[in-house]
Amino acid sequence: MGVIKSARPVVIGLEVHLQLNTSSKLFCSCSTDYIGRTPNTNVCPICLAVPGTLPIINDRAVALGARMGLGLHCEIQNYSNFHRKNYFYPDLPKAYQITQYELPIAVGGYMDIEGDGGPKRVRIHHLHLEEDAGKLVHPTTDGRMTGAAYSLVDYNRGGVPLSEVVSEPDMSSPAEAREYVTRLRQLARYLDVSDGEMESGSLRVDANISLSNADGSLGTRVEIKNMNSFKSIERALEYEIGRQNKVLASGGRIIQETRLWDDSEGVTRSMRNKETASDYRYYPEMDLAPIVITDEEIEKFKEDIPELPWEKRERFARDFGLSKEEISVLTEQKELAAYYEGVVNAGAPPERAANWVRMEVLRVINEAGCSITGFGVKPAVLAELVRKIENRELSNTVGKDVLDLLVKDGCSLEDAINRSGASSAKLTGSSLDGLIATVMEANADVVGVIKSGQDKKGGKAKFLHGLIMKESRGQADPKEAAEALSRMLEL
Ligand SMILES: [Zn+2]
Repeated sequence: MGVIKSARPVVIGLEVHLQLNTSSKLFCSCSTDYIGRTPNTNVCPICLAVPGTLPIINDRAVALGARMGLGLHCEIQNYSNFHRKNYFYPDLPKAYQITQYELPIAVGGYMDIEGDGGPKRVRIHHLHLEEDAGKLVHPTTDGRMTGAAYSLVDYNRGGVPLSEVVSEPDMSSPAEAREYVTRLRQLARYLDVSDGEMESGSLRVDANISLSNADGSLGTRVEIKNMNSFKSIERALEYEIGRQNKVLASGGRIIQETRLWDDSEGVTRSMRNKETASDYRYYPEMDLAPIVITDEEIEKFKEDIPELPWEKRERFARDFGLSKEEISVLTEQKELAAYYEGVVNAGAPPERAANWVRMEVLRVINEAGCSITGFGVKPAVLAELVRKIENRELSNTVGKDVLDLLVKDGCSLEDAINRSGASSAKLTGSSLDGLIATVMEANADVVGVIKSGQDKKGGKAKFLHGLIMKESRGQADPKEAAEALSRMLEL
């Protein structure tokens, strides 16, 4: 995408909601599996706010919040609590949302990203826990939000645990905002804190954007909501930069407001004037005890943190000597990184293995529409295949056919090789013998060593075999070539 030209410096801060990977809701034992369920079947008196019921905190949600906070280098608080955020809207049965306000579970911290001008540190203001709201359904015949005669409400999602990560306004372009969300999602996935799927709503982004004034002071902030994909984050911010520049250039002034992104029209529209904290009449949630996390528990959470994306990237560069681009693709998902490491640990050369996982394995997965966890070829089998290609026993082209056969038929590597192009070798009989003779002539010294009986481990013969396979450009059958070579060496 092109670089956005803005007359004034752009200042962006993001609020990212992540649905936490818990099986039950934040304050009751209802399931969090709400997608595709019959409306209002995933509910109980607590999440429906029946008077007299009391919330009970989900310890796993607390642990996941702390875990994400640690991944963001935040300071985990020994003491945090909940507030009631009051607003009257049918998606909230209590007419307030239970959320952390004054004392969130994690504060401070940062996330390093690849900024427009090189590495950049985005500071994290805090991370807090809160419950999700229900969903309103507007039954119109054409699926639009406006024009429905009535609305329906589904509380299946009400009470599902969220963590909200609030950044400082440290991003200077739509591309940086997108990069930040990409890194945040990757971190959440590495930590198993959230699946981070934007399509299903497990990851939701609100953006605050302003243009700096001529004297360098911050301009009026506009909040943008309803961006449902990585692409739409960038598009919405680009649109908003253009809009604000235009308003200011014509002598107008930016109103502090919340605007909704309309993806099909490619515009933002004013939704409401921005609320201030006092509009929400926050007050402490007296039905819940404060969350107390001891230093020992924080230490325990730290011990449980796995290798993080940036640590893995460093290690891959150090141990495998791969390029930045290769590492970026291989470590995008920790499952793919683990698969690649499995292939290398099973004896495949790191660089060729990287090439094969990046190009061929990802090609097959994309064609099949599955993920690496659903990929049927075990790392050890791919390692063997890659090794054969490295040793020139198989050509690259034949290797790809073999991989396709392994995936489609789930057969053994040997079967796949026999049934692939390698078995329909065109170079056989006397023409194969002719090629072998040429190779032997060109390597008379090696042949001499073998014939004098000094090649006890067979390494020199293997070397010649490799040369023959290379010269044959995948046209010879490796087994037949090996037999013919033995015969001609009089072994
Ligand atoms: Zn419930």
